[in-house]
Order: sequence, then C-alpha cells, then structure tokens
Amino acid sequence: MQLLSAGAAETVTGSCHHLTLSGKNILIDCGLFQGRQEIEDFNYESFPFDLEKLEAVLLTHGHLDHVGRLPKLVREGYRRPIYATHTTQKIAEIVLLDAAKIQLEDYERALRKAQRNGREKKVTPPLFTDKDVTQTVSLFKTVDFAKPLQLGDVTVTYSPAGHILGSGFISVQSSEGHVIFSGDLGNAESGVQEDFRLPSSCDAVLVETTYGNRTHRPLSETLEEFRTVIKASLKTGGKVLIPSFALERAQNILFHLRNMQKQGDIPRIPIYLDSPMATKMTQLYMQGKNEFLPEVAAKLASGVDPFEPETLIYAATADESKKINDVEGQAIIIAGSGMMTGGRILHHLKHNLWRKETSLVVVGYQSEGTLGRLLVDGKKRVKIHGEEIAVKAKIHTIGGFSAHADQDDLLRWLEPTSKANVYMIHGEVAVMNEFGAVLAKAGRNAVMVQRNKTYDLRQPLNGFVPVMVDKSGRNRTGNYTE
Ligand code: ZN
Repeated sequence: MQLLSAGAAETVTGSCHHLTLSGKNILIDCGLFQGRQEIEDFNYESFPFDLEKLEAVLLTHGHLDHVGRLPKLVREGYRRPIYATHTTQKIAEIVLLDAAKIQLEDYERALRKAQRNGREKKVTPPLFTDKDVTQTVSLFKTVDFAKPLQLGDVTVTYSPAGHILGSGFISVQSSEGHVIFSGDLGNAESGVQEDFRLPSSCDAVLVETTYGNRTHRPLSETLEEFRTVIKASLKTGGKVLIPSFALERAQNILFHLRNMQKQGDIPRIPIYLDSPMATKMTQLYMQGKNEFLPEVAAKLASGVDPFEPETLIYAATADESKKINDVEGQAIIIAGSGMMTGGRILHHLKHNLWRKETSLVVVGYQSEGTLGRLLVDGKKRVKIHGEEIAVKAKIHTIGGFSAHADQDDLLRWLEPTSKANVYMIHGEVAVMNEFGAVLAKAGRNAVMVQRNKTYDLRQPLNGFVPVMVDKSGRNRTGNYTE
C-alpha cells in the first residue's frame, strides 16, 4: 500500500497520485500544473513511475488540473483504460481539446517572436496536440457512481463529490487495505448541485485542502450582494461584464440571473454567453440528471432549462462575439477567461473598461499576476493586447461563489474516516499548515504529501508537524506558496 504523488503535492494544481495496492499500480488523476512558470515547468518532467506497469487511471473529475497531463501519459505509451464517469469524460474531452488549441496558439506565437530575434531553437513545443487528445479519449471507460469496479483483487467505488458535474471521490480497497481519494470536494452551498456524499471508514484518506483555512460566507449573503450589484450596475446604463470560468461558475451565474429575472429583480435585457466552451458546458449541464438539488432536477425534468435565462443569447462564432460591441444599450456579457488572462473577455474589456458607465463584476478568484487581479486591486491603466486602456468602469468583487469545500465542509467530510491517517494534498503549504493543526487538535494524524516522495500508507503517523517555508516563499520541494 504505497503512494507516490506526482502533483498537487504542496501546491494546488497538477493532481496525479500513484497508488500501489495488492500488486496493482493505479493512477488517480493526471492533471496539468498551472500558475507560475516554475510550477508549469513540472509538466515537462518525466513521470516518476513505470508507465508499463500502470494498469488503470481513475479520474475524479474533468478540470484541467486533474486531467491535463493524460495526453502526455498516452503520448509516452500508456494504452490501458482511463476510468471516469460519463459526464467527466465529456468535460475532459472539451477541456483537453481547448488546452491543445491554446498550447498550439501559444507555441506559434512564441515561435514567430523567437524567429524574429533569431532564437527559435529555444521555443518549447506544446505538451500535447489534438491527436494525443483523440487517442486519450479512445481509452475512456465509463464508471458509474456506487457501482463497484473490479480491477483484479482491487475494488474501486465512485461517490458524488458535489464539486462540478460528474465529480466523484474514489474508494480503492483490497485485502491489503483501503484508501480514499477525495478529488476536489464541492461547496456544501452551491445552490445548484447536491452536496457531496460522505466516505466510509478506511485506512488512509487523501484529502484536498484548497480552502482548508477558510469558511465561506452563506450563499444567501453572496446572492444578495450579487443582486444588489447587478441592479446598481444596470442603473448606470452601461454594459455589465462578468468574466467567468466556462465550467460550473458560468452555469451557476446563469442559474442565478435567470432566477433574478423571473423574480423581476432585474429587467429583461440581453444576457450574452460569449464563450464557445461555456456554451458546450451549459449543454452538458442540461443533460445532468442525478447530481442537482431536487428543485433544479425537477425543473430539468419538467422541460424547463434552469441555466437559460429567457433573454440569453449564445455567441458562438468570433463574428457573433464582435457584434456584441455594436449592441446599443444595456446588456450583461459573460465571457472567459475567468481571470481575464485571455479569451473573449479581453475584447469586451478593451471596448468598455474606459467607459465610466461600464460595470465589471468579478465572481471568481483572481490570482496574483493576472489582469483580473490588477483590476480588482484598483489599477487605473492596464494593457490589453498591447494597448493601454484607462480604467474608468466600476469594479465590483463578489466573494463567496466557490466550487470548493471550506474548512467546515472538509472536516464534516473527513468525520467518518476518523481512524484513518490523513494525507493532505491539493493545497498551498501555508493553508495546509493551518488545516493540519486543526486536524491534530481534533486528534487526527496528518501529513502534507510531498511531490515525488514514496509513502508507505501503513506507516503510523503521529499528530501533525508543520512545514517551514523560507523567506522567499519557497518550501522544501521548491514550490512557491502564497
Ligand atoms: Zn476541480
């Protein structure tokens, strides 16, 4: 019963955990590292396990930081099954094709730049192409929630994790022992998706810790603020821009906007979903069945689409997107990317940020170094597509929309595993230091999993020992922490 994590160890991205149980080698997730260059460079390292001996890959959900290195795995020779729920397969395919496209565009841009200064040999090629994605998708095999999957002596069971559609946590059990992988766990109060199920008792539990040191405020407060901000924004007469992640956040925002229109809180002005990827994801959400809260499921069952306000307009093509600039009067525009680092939102920002009647409503986390963060921090001039733009728009930040469990949710989920050792993954070091202390106080034994280190999961743990971070913010594995 051995664990080797090749990602999401002392950082939040790159989920990839290799488990050896009863002689079987199983990989749980194979995600992309995202963020600072030092972290993204890990994507190019070789996998620290024997690909030929790997017998199965199990996916917890379709986010890029959980599936983004699958095409690399396949490119390097992996040909055995990749198990995932039906929805996760659909999401992963969309996400991976999009990533392949972005990587190719980035590569071509970098190559042109390098050619102009005579250094083209130094340009790193894309990690994978759409052909690798096609081959990856051909290995997908469906696993259903609560229906055990037998891999020799090892029994694998998926349970809903309430994070994004199709997301599950995974129990892996044999006569040798029982390990549970949380994947990403959902926010108990999403307003749309059902809460996560609880795990059973086990020997070892790997738990995500993204918000291990935080408590989300109640959803009702977030929605009240969202309603107030949208109403105030519409009074100024300008456009309302909502940058959003294509998956989960966009659908939840559409859901709440539809409710507000139905209740007469906001007028029937056009709402544009200007994101081909969010459009595809929204269509997937309409097919989602068992994972929604009863009132959402009932709407879907009665033929009502809860994710489609009556005034919703999908902008599919680039031309349709550009035409939104010519629309006179008020409109709400939802577009990606969520942190304003690329995508169609940039065009809307360029055309509207300099107008004082515009409102920018930020509904997601903006990490350091992104355009979104600069705007949230109050920068008065920003560069978009090489052009300097004055920021005169009103900027509103709405906290509280989160697809992740908070500290209370994590503790509640961990409760039934009270006898198990806790292996903390998918978190920043400082956050895990806080969460580890909370666990130790509750009598749990916990450790922060380090990247590329092998753990014998039967080894007893004793309380929790925090990890020191040096002055530069660099911890012992060389990852940076906020
Ligand atoms: Zn996720």
